[in-house]
Amino acid sequence: MTSKELRNAWIRFYEERGHINIGAVSLIGDGTTGVMFNVAGMQPLMPYLLGKEHPSGKKRLCNVQGCVRTVDIESVGDPTHFTFFEMMGNWSLGDYFKQEKTQWSYDLLTKVFGLDSKEICSTVFEGNDAAPRDDETADLLKKVGILPEHIFYLPKSDNWWELEGTTGTPCGPDNEWFYPRHNKPCGPNCGPACGCGRYVEIGNDVYMQYVKNADGYSPLANKNVDTGFGLDRMLAFLNGVTDGYKTDLFIPVIKHLEEKSGKSYDDDPEAQKAMRIIADHIRTSTMLIGDVKGILPSNVGAGYILRRLLRRAIRYTRQLGLESSVLAEVSRIFIEQIYDEAYPLLVEKKDYILDEIMKEAARFEATLATGMKEFTKCITGIRRKNEFMAQKDPSYKPETEISGKQAFRLYDTYGFPLELTEELAAEEGLTVDANGFAEAFKEHQAISKQEGAAKGGLTERNEETAKLHTATHLLQAALRKVLGDEVAQKGSNITTERLRFDFSFSRKMTPEEIAEVERLVNVAIDAKVPVVMEEMTVQEAKEKGAIGLFESKYGEKVKTYKMGEYSFEICGGPHAANTGDLGSFKIRKEESSSAGVRRIKATIAPKA
Ligand code: ATP
Ligand code: MG
Repeated sequence: MTSKELRNAWIRFYEERGHINIGAVSLIGDGTTGVMFNVAGMQPLMPYLLGKEHPSGKKRLCNVQGCVRTVDIESVGDPTHFTFFEMMGNWSLGDYFKQEKTQWSYDLLTKVFGLDSKEICSTVFEGNDAAPRDDETADLLKKVGILPEHIFYLPKSDNWWELEGTTGTPCGPDNEWFYPRHNKPCGPNCGPACGCGRYVEIGNDVYMQYVKNADGYSPLANKNVDTGFGLDRMLAFLNGVTDGYKTDLFIPVIKHLEEKSGKSYDDDPEAQKAMRIIADHIRTSTMLIGDVKGILPSNVGAGYILRRLLRRAIRYTRQLGLESSVLAEVSRIFIEQIYDEAYPLLVEKKDYILDEIMKEAARFEATLATGMKEFTKCITGIRRKNEFMAQKDPSYKPETEISGKQAFRLYDTYGFPLELTEELAAEEGLTVDANGFAEAFKEHQAISKQEGAAKGGLTERNEETAKLHTATHLLQAALRKVLGDEVAQKGSNITTERLRFDFSFSRKMTPEEIAEVERLVNVAIDAKVPVVMEEMTVQEAKEKGAIGLFESKYGEKVKTYKMGEYSFEICGGPHAANTGDLGSFKIRKEESSSAGVRRIKATIAPKA
């Protein structure tokens, strides 16, 4: 089955069962909910799931909706996570419920899509004090043909949906559908929850059957069903492959990258990763520029995400030994050969999209070009010195390394990533002192000139800023311990030299308080505890006592970072692996930032 056939098959199946196709909305958030992109098919349908009548007057809806999930950017490179993907959805607004839905999901997966019913796994809600185990769904699953041993009961964190921080809203258990990527279980307890990667979630049926009250749940009169199946993943599985890039949504692009680079997707793991990243990021960029509410690369908000996607793709074209013009070629393939029918607007806006991609590439390359002059100077310097010394002393061993300081200057002043300097040096038969580069980071005192306002106040991402960012977590925890829960993050900004943290607090801190906060942070560093990332829903994170900004994004899990007993926060930024990596922590300044908000600047330095 092709992707075009799959979209049609989904819609036809549900149309035959009384649904109307409501079509898709823009990928760009409407600016009112604070959500930058549309992350799930149900996101635009929230008002109707909450009780408002749908404009169509109908109770059975379906569609295929594009989604952009920037939280998944770090997973891109694996076979099943993309930053853009399509979600196939269908909804019952107070109409049919579990019996019909279980039967339909099963029939569609096994009879229409041809998946092996003996391989499908399902997870259902295991129950807790507030709501019973979802035996109803489990029984229906067994009845339709799912093997009893393939039904797993999981806790609220996995199989429950509700709107964070609300009461009076619908909520309920969900039934997630999984399919194995290969046939080797990791052990006797291998299953959808074991985390070995064998099972991939292909879809999710949410049953909204309760109302959330202040003190628990009560039955909901008008029960809803909300469904989301990933088209890109499904396409792979129903065609007997488990790599999402081996479907018609990507094959022509991967083939083009292979031809242009002369490298093999299957045999060269590094090239494979680069090709996946380029393909994913250019697909998402194409969709965002070509959207009805199209955006352009910039230094703020959604535009900054787009810029990061494009520049990251450019870096990986270099790694494949390709010119950045290949990005427009890739975009053209997506527009003309892959999404022409499903996204006709892309075809209309084709020239504009390709032009904008090339303009951003040119901007990035201009930064690189100035840096190249500096790089050449640096090489010439080494050569001259070698010639001069060799004349004086025939036994002189020529220098073959670009110093850490020079590499850092290229990075700091000209925006050369270290990998780029290393690649260029290798072409000249030279190496780069990577340790010296790291040293130079630590020594460097000037404030970073990098623009941009990435998540968590990080304007650039590297090992040093990751450490400072980790220290920010410990600082916030220590402040709350010393000054009380009144302390909440109001802002954060990190350069390679220092962290800056703004927080709510009504008066100046005393020298004793400052010293105590500093001491507590250093205690956590000295404890050398690992920094552990775990994904969970916002609700679950809150219940477990995490702090952080609780922006609820429907259907999304958030990343949490735990450092022993010292800190537990919801966060999307990059972190050190262990608090012991941070070095000694020092508060440099405590001052007023604005009314009711204090500002701390602090540094970390390697332990003497
Ligand atoms: P996962 O745990 O695999 O990241 P999820 O729990 O985030 O998935 P949902 O939020 O339930 O997924 O989204 C519904 C469906 O959308 C999933 O069953 C999956 O098929 C698909 N999906 C989710 N995230 C992605 C992604 N990054 N790329 C492709 N498909 C995705
Ligand atoms: Mg899920």
